[in-house]
Amino acid sequence: MSLRLEYNADLSRLNTLGLPARAACLVRPTTLDALEQVLADRDPNAPLYVIGEGSNLVLQGDLPGLTISLAIDGMTRVKETDQHVWVAAGAGVHWDDLVAWTVEQGWQGLENLSLIPGTAGAAPYQNIGAYGVELAQVLEQVTVMEIATGKVTHYSCEECEFAYRDSRFKGRDKGRYIITGIELKLNRQAHCNISYGPLEQHFADQPPQAVTAAAVRNQVIAIRQSKLPDPAELANAGSFFKNPVVSADKAESLKAAFPGLVCYAQQDGVKLAAGWLIEAAGWKGKQLGPVGMHREQALVLVNYGGATPSDVQVLASAVRGDVWQRFGVQLEQEPVVLP
Ligand SMILES: Cc1cc2nc3c(=O)[nH]c(=O)nc-3n(C[C@H](O)[C@H](O)[C@H](O)COP(=O)(O)OP(=O)(O)OC[C@H]3O[C@@H](n4cnc5c(N)ncnc54)[C@H](O)[C@@H]3O)c2cc1C
Repeated sequence: MSLRLEYNADLSRLNTLGLPARAACLVRPTTLDALEQVLADRDPNAPLYVIGEGSNLVLQGDLPGLTISLAIDGMTRVKETDQHVWVAAGAGVHWDDLVAWTVEQGWQGLENLSLIPGTAGAAPYQNIGAYGVELAQVLEQVTVMEIATGKVTHYSCEECEFAYRDSRFKGRDKGRYIITGIELKLNRQAHCNISYGPLEQHFADQPPQAVTAAAVRNQVIAIRQSKLPDPAELANAGSFFKNPVVSADKAESLKAAFPGLVCYAQQDGVKLAAGWLIEAAGWKGKQLGPVGMHREQALVLVNYGGATPSDVQVLASAVRGDVWQRFGVQLEQEPVVLP
């Protein structure tokens, strides 16, 4: 089996924030066997990085050692009952191709997650979510290969330890596994979740039978295109900070001081809209050198061209500092920093 190794590979097009970086050695295995061979042949003392489409990365510099970008393809129907259908996808599948395919089949479950950039393999890493739905709600199991041994294991949804933008793969097992595929359990009948405000409003005067997976997907795409910059036109890594979760007491005192505060009650506290905090701290549409916080969506840090990792860091620190000073709330960065 021959695998093409790309030395000194340009990563500037493999990270949607458009930061300049190179991989000392980049390889894109297309099968489990090829991945196993790559792991067996590598220098175990050299650093190893796994990337997908780079839509949730801040590349601080060049990646030494080996970088793996999985290209395992394939979307299949695994089994079905009257109520459900199980589908599997390789880690290299473009996430929105999977959503589009399932919605075209009339299967329900992924429509709220339409148009999220990236690969199916990266989706469990941070338990992607949007418009009231998280991957964890539809995920049946994840297939992984252990980096140290090449052993393939399956983890059920519960075993993945999913939380808000978090999983065991990002937490206690960080750097231990490569996700090679996912299996999802979808509905054959529409049970769409339109609890997110703008979706609820859109469907308010429509009959229940109009709320199909396809209709919800179309609406989610319309909402996303109206407020999120397309990385192909304006480099960005999506939400730059997580929505912070604070205690009910803290949320209460903030609400008293700032009545417009956008927040949502959770089991473990109150989630604050980070975009609202950033906007209220005066950063919406503001630029610092070649980077800035987007004019429509303050949560998105954008690169207007030619930004360096240090430009990103300076802006992120300034935003974090101002939000802390004004609200006493810590913002945590969402995109992963490499190396
Ligand atoms: C415009 C825009 C909008 C976005 N909107 C959303 C949104 O609504 N909701 C949301 O949750 N996210 C959103 N994101 C973030 C991003 O799309 C997701 O996190 C996506 O899952 C990242 O996929 P990727 O293939 O680009 O992963 P990368 O950015 O390449 O990698 C992200 C992390 O996953 C790890 N990883 C990648 N592949 C694997 C693998 N096969 N095995 C193990 N680890 C792996 C990497 O090591 C890295 O730590 C958005 C990003 C952009 C640019």
